[in-house]
Amino acid sequence: MTEPSPITRAVRAGIDTDRTHGAVVPPVYLSTTYTFAEFGVPRPFDYARRGNPTRSALEQAITGLEGGAGAVVTASGMGAITTVVNALLQPGDVLVAPHDAYGGTWRLFDALARKGAFELVLADLSDPEVAERTIRQRRPAVLWVETPSNPLLRISDLAAVSRLGHEVGATVVADNTFCTPLGQRPLDLGADLVVHSATKYLAGHSDVVAGAVVSSTAASAEELAWWANCLGVTGGAFDSYLVTRGLRTLHARMAIHESNGAAVVDLLGRHPAVAVVHHPSLPGHAGHALASVQQRLFGGVVSFELRDGEGAARRFMESLTLFCPAESLGGTESLVSHPATMTHASMPSEVQADAGITPGMVRLSVGIEQAEDLLADLGRALDAAG
Ligand SMILES: *Cc1c(COP(=O)(O)O)cnc(C)c1O
Repeated sequence: MTEPSPITRAVRAGIDTDRTHGAVVPPVYLSTTYTFAEFGVPRPFDYARRGNPTRSALEQAITGLEGGAGAVVTASGMGAITTVVNALLQPGDVLVAPHDAYGGTWRLFDALARKGAFELVLADLSDPEVAERTIRQRRPAVLWVETPSNPLLRISDLAAVSRLGHEVGATVVADNTFCTPLGQRPLDLGADLVVHSATKYLAGHSDVVAGAVVSSTAASAEELAWWANCLGVTGGAFDSYLVTRGLRTLHARMAIHESNGAAVVDLLGRHPAVAVVHHPSLPGHAGHALASVQQRLFGGVVSFELRDGEGAARRFMESLTLFCPAESLGGTESLVSHPATMTHASMPSEVQADAGITPGMVRLSVGIEQAEDLLADLGRALDAAG
């Protein structure tokens, strides 16, 4: 019999493995500690921070989906990122990261760089010339890539930047939170590590904070698991159970996020109140050609600009009834956010302008509700904003 696909293995992570009672869904192992088999002989699990069967099943499922050699599940996406920078960087090393990285990622990198942990260089890695010049000149120990970026969904060429990174000896890390392994597999394109905020699409129900680091080699997976345990940022058993439950339906949810996203992009593009729509599925988007070959999904995150600026954004958001005004993304329910006053509020307005964030910009995380209901809600609110 051939090996089941990664999707089938994710759907069935831990299913029918309970030999005590024959439970179909695996039990959650809440025990913090495990007996030694005999004097001096530990079992595979000894202490739950280092590892437990519930987390281990999730680690195997994520590893399979990303096509990696191993993974460690962490208490949050930031826990995953903390693990990577601690494992890979030392004082004097250069970290090259995107100028429009996730805000929490930027804050961690900036704070650690200020303490002398490493030197931080920010660059627009979605611009091939800027990426090449920065990587060749700064010779980073770690090259951080996030594609698509937030909120403009800029696309960076994973294969090209991985090749450049390897030429100068960098470890290439891709944050694959937005696409999920069903949308793109950075390890196949040359990245060494993938990090996830599993809080978003992987868990998918906006009820658990978790993260993961997937490695392309067994040695690096072991090293990162060692660091995560050492730092104390490994994921808890119940959180791991929730993420595993989410992963079972990832392929089904992503298909609906994708089709609902496409319907929303279409509606926005035809409404007179909308000045511009940012989504990699659009031929006019700067990253469209690249996304079409690099990604298998364009995704359910869409941003757009209203013609009448912040006033219109406010009227639009206050008129919505289904889309909840909240940060985060990737849950089954639709969310709307205003980057300038929410996710990116800590940026001074000139830095926002540099990053392409305007007062009239709105970001949607399109959920898996019935498409017609979402379109009706958006249509009404756009009319009110107009
Ligand atoms: C949310 C997010 C993170 C941080 O993850 P947490 O689970 O909130 O700690 C990192 N990267 C991206 C792209 C994110 O969207």
